[in-house]
Amino acid sequence: MMADRKGLREHVERLRALSFKIGAYRPPSEGGSASLLLRVTENCPWNRCTFCEMYKGHRFVYRPAQEIKADIDTVAAIRDEIAAASWMLGMGGKITREAGAALLAEGRDLIGNSSFSTVFNWLCSGGRTAFLQDADSMIMRAPELVAVLEHLRETLTSLTRVTTYARSKTLARRKTQELRMIREAGLDRLHIGLETGDDELLARVRKGVTRAEQIEGGRKAIAAGFQVSEYWMPDLGGRERRRQHAENTASALSAINPHYIRSRPLVPRPGTPLFEEVAQGRLCLSSPHERLEELAWMIGGLDVTSRVCFDHAMNAWSDSGGGLLFRQDYEGYRFPDEKPLVLERIREGLAVEESKHVHVRELMAAQSL
Ligand code: SF4
Repeated sequence: MMADRKGLREHVERLRALSFKIGAYRPPSEGGSASLLLRVTENCPWNRCTFCEMYKGHRFVYRPAQEIKADIDTVAAIRDEIAAASWMLGMGGKITREAGAALLAEGRDLIGNSSFSTVFNWLCSGGRTAFLQDADSMIMRAPELVAVLEHLRETLTSLTRVTTYARSKTLARRKTQELRMIREAGLDRLHIGLETGDDELLARVRKGVTRAEQIEGGRKAIAAGFQVSEYWMPDLGGRERRRQHAENTASALSAINPHYIRSRPLVPRPGTPLFEEVAQGRLCLSSPHERLEELAWMIGGLDVTSRVCFDHAMNAWSDSGGGLLFRQDYEGYRFPDEKPLVLERIREGLAVEESKHVHVRELMAAQSL
């Protein structure tokens, strides 16, 4: 037993010395699958959207492929140390909560070690999915991204899905052949922030892309074989522009017909220009019912075969029983079959007294907790 403890301590020592770069952000669906997080670039190469606080104050860093490959090797080394500890504990190499508890009993500080905890949680959930950070991985030169993906797939063979964030503008600029190469090297799904399909609103929020480029980028990605997940932002245009926002978003998404459409209602974040617009009364946000009406116009205008998802806490409208109006799972509603159901849910939400819904002010407070 003493010898086992000594061996375990040695594993803990080696785990303490292993670290790789991990960023702060990933989509909720990647959190749900405990995806391995790998930072292939740092921050956002655009960083000018007026509603976004995610990477403000941080400059974009283009990481060399060699550095990212070394991070992948570190992930494999952490995986192997944990598996070896599991063998030592008589658990046959299985990565379980018991194996984790035994390691933490020997090195309590590992609990605050993000490299260890990310790999451990990823392995515990099967080690199947990975998410490449940060805001626009497709900006990497295609041969370098391909080399990183090939190394990732060769080294971490349990992976069955690799995803990333991408800007439509970057996708629109990419050659189709490059997109195909990246897809074939093992990148499966792209999470794209469309936000709105309305050109006036895109310019107002400084998204740095036009509606035509959004459509072109999404379509090119789908043609290259990617699964595409597009995010739109209810209430981005406020009360004044909600009709044009809803209608032009519906028509842009219908033109793309992505695999997933995900709702992320606007919550102004302190420190952003949009927050100031709201604070100074230059942008008037919609009430809960007005947001639902906007949703009805947008959903009503969709002509897609996508999954429409409300997989975020900000989609917090109430139904008549006081429960959540929409399912918040990651696979969402199957369109067109479930479009009437979603429209029915919206009608139900509109029949609920407005004070019973969570208002954006409460969402802002919840976000700042
Ligand atoms: S492109 Fe995305 S990450 Fe970059 S500033 Fe805009 S919303 Fe934020």
